[in-house]
Amino acid sequence: MPTTAEIISIGDELLYGQTLDTNSHWISSQLDLIGIKVRRRTTIGDVEEEILSTLREAEQRADIILITGGLGPTNDDLTKPLLAKYFNVGLKRNEEALAEITALFESKGRELSGANKQQADLPENCTKLTNKMGTAPGMWFDERQTIFVSMPGVPYEMKEIMTSQVLPRLKERFFGGIILHHIIRTVGIPESTLAEKLVDWEKNLPPQLKLAYLPSMGQVKLRLTAIGDDQSALQQSIDEQVAQALPLIEKYVYGFGNDELEKVVGDTLLKAGKSIAFAESCTGGYLSHMITSIPGSSAYFKGSIISYDYDVKVNSLDVNKAEMEEKGAVSEEVVLQMARAVREKLHADIGLSISGVAGPGGGTEEKPVGTVWIAYSDKEKTVAKKFNFSKDRILNIKFSALAALNMFRIHFSSN
Ligand code: AMP
Ligand code: MG
Repeated sequence: MPTTAEIISIGDELLYGQTLDTNSHWISSQLDLIGIKVRRRTTIGDVEEEILSTLREAEQRADIILITGGLGPTNDDLTKPLLAKYFNVGLKRNEEALAEITALFESKGRELSGANKQQADLPENCTKLTNKMGTAPGMWFDERQTIFVSMPGVPYEMKEIMTSQVLPRLKERFFGGIILHHIIRTVGIPESTLAEKLVDWEKNLPPQLKLAYLPSMGQVKLRLTAIGDDQSALQQSIDEQVAQALPLIEKYVYGFGNDELEKVVGDTLLKAGKSIAFAESCTGGYLSHMITSIPGSSAYFKGSIISYDYDVKVNSLDVNKAEMEEKGAVSEEVVLQMARAVREKLHADIGLSISGVAGPGGGTEEKPVGTVWIAYSDKEKTVAKKFNFSKDRILNIKFSALAALNMFRIHFSSN
């Protein structure tokens, strides 16, 4: 029998529809990686009877029960006292937990309240899981041949506790083998088209390799997971398969592992000793934000002109007013001029420009919401491309910035 787990998400806000239960989604994906099968996920409110009965039922079925939520210092959060009740034990002050909570408050210059001190009171039968990001410690129970883990609902606190303490313990206890992952990162190709290109390759994958398509925001990650006992054999079979897959999708691959596109673009510029500047309209600086989120970007990023208004396009980027009035600000002619001008004015080697209809208003039949023109300019050439993204404003902004970086990737050559 494979090891099975259940996830219990606790919190009234989840049932009201105010908060999306992202925790159980993330926990599932992490357990999957270590070969633990999630059999059921349950969402319940901060209600005594619900919590106790759900624990009872889950214990009948699962080897591992992972619980998030209900650990706040306020009265509406019930999980901790109910776990003590469930195991028929008392709560006891955990001095190490108290020291950790005190240190966290001191580091923020805040006064510790009585309610916060009580967060260091834990059921007597649990092992404390340190919460580096917040005040509610996680708890690990090993009772009646079942592992129960209780963690705070705040996603980044839960993730830290899972990553640093829970997953390593579960791995050690329930998984004997070796797992290797290799991630190939692609951009500018939908998941289904990518899958079509790889269909024959996928059919011939050896049984110890599992393939997953992980789409997000204009990108698709391909994850190859190898599970077995022999590390070097697993690595070799991953390498062989990656070598076969790459030529089939080469145009779309921008990196591996944790490489972000903005990092890859930055590294490319750095290596070539070239600089870049942006003329942003509908993205309002988002592209600049992406590139400057990479440490060291000052070595290649000159700056941007956020030309949101017609006048700024004309006055700061020398866009031809008559032409813009005729063709519209969202047009090939305008982005070509923007990219060229920003490159020259900011003394950069490369210019990228974006002009589009982010929405929700401003769309026309000819240029509906989501229409975006993007241009790339260097000394040799200036090229533009039209995109049709979505109806959603924020998505359009993000897609546009990503597509601009991808334009760079496609058109830039270091010589
Ligand atoms: P709690 O541990 O109950 O104090 O949870 C604190 C906060 O974490 C809640 O107010 C929610 O915003 C968030 N949260 C709780 N459960 C979840 C969940 N399953 N998924 C995502 N966020 C959550
Ligand atoms: Mg709560």
